[in-house]
Amino acid sequence: MFRKILIANRGEIACRIIRTCRKLGVATVAVHSDADRDALFVDMADEAVSLGGQTASQSYLKADRIIAAALSTGAEAIHPGYGFLSENPDFAEAVTKAGLRFIGPPASAIRAMGLKDAAKAAMEKAGVPVVPGYHGAANDAATLLSEATRIGFPVLIKARAGGGGKGMRRVERPEDFTAALDGARHEAQASFGDPACLIEKYVTHPRHIEIQVFADDHGEVVHLFERDCSAQRRHQKVIEEAPAPGMPEEMRAAMGEAAVKAARAIGYSGAGTVEFIADASEGLRMDRFWFMEMNTRLQVEHPVTEAITGVDLVEWQLRVASGEPLPKRQQALAIHGWAMEARLYAENPATGFLPSTGRIRHLRLPEMEARVESGIRAGDLVTPFYDPMIAKIIVHGESREAALDRLVAALNRTEVSGVETNSRFLARLARQADFAAGNPDTGLIARALDDLLAEGTPTPETKALAALLLTDLDRLPDDPDPWASLKGFRALGEAEEIVVLAGAERPETVYLSRQDRHCWRARIGAAECRLRLTRSGENRFRLEAQGHDRQGSWHRDGEKAVIRIGEDEHVFRLHDPTPANRSAAGGNQVTAPMPGLVKRLQASVGQQVRAGDPLLVMEAMKMELTLSAPRDGTVAAVNCSEGAQVAEGTLLVALEAQDEA
Ligand code: ADP
Repeated sequence: MFRKILIANRGEIACRIIRTCRKLGVATVAVHSDADRDALFVDMADEAVSLGGQTASQSYLKADRIIAAALSTGAEAIHPGYGFLSENPDFAEAVTKAGLRFIGPPASAIRAMGLKDAAKAAMEKAGVPVVPGYHGAANDAATLLSEATRIGFPVLIKARAGGGGKGMRRVERPEDFTAALDGARHEAQASFGDPACLIEKYVTHPRHIEIQVFADDHGEVVHLFERDCSAQRRHQKVIEEAPAPGMPEEMRAAMGEAAVKAARAIGYSGAGTVEFIADASEGLRMDRFWFMEMNTRLQVEHPVTEAITGVDLVEWQLRVASGEPLPKRQQALAIHGWAMEARLYAENPATGFLPSTGRIRHLRLPEMEARVESGIRAGDLVTPFYDPMIAKIIVHGESREAALDRLVAALNRTEVSGVETNSRFLARLARQADFAAGNPDTGLIARALDDLLAEGTPTPETKALAALLLTDLDRLPDDPDPWASLKGFRALGEAEEIVVLAGAERPETVYLSRQDRHCWRARIGAAECRLRLTRSGENRFRLEAQGHDRQGSWHRDGEKAVIRIGEDEHVFRLHDPTPANRSAAGGNQVTAPMPGLVKRLQASVGQQVRAGDPLLVMEAMKMELTLSAPRDGTVAAVNCSEGAQVAEGTLLVALEAQDEA
């Protein structure tokens, strides 16, 4: 076993690798960017080397500096984690040339799977079923269109250098093909510097099922069963599970065998994942799964496999890389129970899942209810430089139902403030009928999106609770505990208190009167209710109303009170009686919805614009976002320039004020 290794990654996966190293007595060296100087993984490592820079290309992609750091600290091997340099064969080669061990497969195996077209050809040759399609050498539009017609619509255009769902377009009809191809090529060129595309039959009712494989340097290859990653949003995994629901035993064996064959065909070593797509239009069937691609590294979702097999995959990676044989043979591996993983992101489902950057003010991750993999602490900044994942929440149960219940319980106990998160979206997805019934497919989230995003209307009791939390905190701004102030509340017969909440359309007045220490009566419009409130922990309460006793949590986020009861979350703020600024902010001003770069500026002072006209294009988290005029009018001011980095909420363009007719 190694004595010391360097981890060429950041965040949760760096922490995850360090944990196993500690268990094995292996010393760790972290490398980090300037933005990550105070990050958890840097604190956890035994040593740390600064790479400088902020963005990935200024830091975690600097292969030479990383190798130099390994040499200067006496590390014997480099673990690349996932993303960054993990699937870069030149890096793997350079590590080896420097006399270090690359904790991953040989460069030749990475290369064999690097381009989707070559990988498919190699798999066909090895006897692994591949998705029917075209991946030949000729790549002109006419050839691709005639191949698409031969395959039969709908088809999927994929960038051969693709990854992360980029450069992919589904095409329904021949007449849309050329425009879609242009779009895919453009994105492929921009993201990978390679516009070549391949065509695949679009599989209907597709399920994404992948097999974890492991190989050692002594000719042994095993698989550790499947993971189902069909719950996807825009080709990005959202909740992963193992095993796959409805998987027939003989199909599991066939998929495992195909994956092992794939690994053998390219001389694999270490951890890898062979991704298949299955046509589940009539349930999972033996003859309806096809190879899509192989990821020659550890996957984000590897913990669900660990949970059902009891294997520490990072430990196996270290053992195999240091020359040991695989710790277990195929016959010794078995599936125990069911596991699920949800990816908690700093993003705002309500704004189309835009990344939500900023400082994490309050963080409670469900460490008691689940295995939590995170690289973030309260007080940390979620920056626009890297993936905005906050944590992976992994649960295990005896059955799928038990795992699902635990996942929802864990998500309901997750509290984050300072940034928006997808935690409610995840909890609703876990409870979505098709998903809960074990019928996921890759289109499920898109179809169910409206329901998954629907905000329930808060009950009068919840509004009354919000009124209490908001006003008592205002009276005692330094005291985070509203109950502390309630203790000293005056006795029975107290006059009604009036609290005005900002409502979606108009302010809502809540009349409150206290009945005794715990009980309140509230009137809101025509509704009248009684509630009994007890504190049940830090930021937690029990709310009894209409004979129903529920647990919930709350936190204060600036002006807002965020109240969570079960799967529902509601945000309240007090009514602001100065309406002038409010309407002006909506109508006259365009502000940055997230921190980012002003990529193109189209507006100029004095210009006449119509509602919806593009004013500027921002870029953040590799996404482009067009900001357009909120109404017809004249541009009064432009407060930014092309290439400027702007903070969230910055006023970018103002229109001339308009008399409200
Ligand atoms: P990337 O490398 O960009 O992640 P993949 O080839 O892994 O691209 O595909 C990503 C996702 O796209 C898959 O998980 C699946 O949901 C969907 N997909 C891929 N190929 C097909 C296909 N032929 N038919 C239907 N869906 C597909």
